[in-house]
Amino acid sequence: MSKPRLILDQDDVLAATHDKLADIVFNEFETGLSREAFNKVAFHQILSTELSQRLYHIIQAPGFFSDIPLIPNAREAVLELSKKYEIFVATAALEFPNSFREKYDWLRQYFDFIPWTHIVFCGDKSVLSGDYLIDDMPRNLKTFKGKGLLFNAAHNLEETAYQRVMNWEEILQLLG
Ligand SMILES: [Mg+2]
Repeated sequence: MSKPRLILDQDDVLAATHDKLADIVFNEFETGLSREAFNKVAFHQILSTELSQRLYHIIQAPGFFSDIPLIPNAREAVLELSKKYEIFVATAALEFPNSFREKYDWLRQYFDFIPWTHIVFCGDKSVLSGDYLIDDMPRNLKTFKGKGLLFNAAHNLEETAYQRVMNWEEILQLLG
């Protein structure tokens, strides 16, 4: 029997992208806010249009996606789940076309056990088909036909329509 298919988002599920951005905003932008404040809201809610643009350019710049820290325990948990599930990574990389190579190399660095055939660079995630999708963006879970799990993030704290998972330990308990 084939394994159930588990699809994982990259940014803010495997890679701590928001944390990297929050560190940049806290250290380089003069917002007057504490570092903790960025753990509770989306950037667009607190940054001016000008600062949002500045942040956007930082994300677009070469190198941004190369050194994003791993979300704690993501590698170990995905490796464990790969025994029971067919794992795919699906990332809306088309939003930042410069990121392709960096995102791919990042996955090779931390998730070398996921073959290239199971990495999907996409735009609209409604194209995905699987049994489970773990993503931090409610819009991606909305169109998914399987079971969606919302990975807790600063920009989705208000969302109540999907089952929330706080970390990889909890995912392992749920799906392992
Ligand atoms: Mg994401």
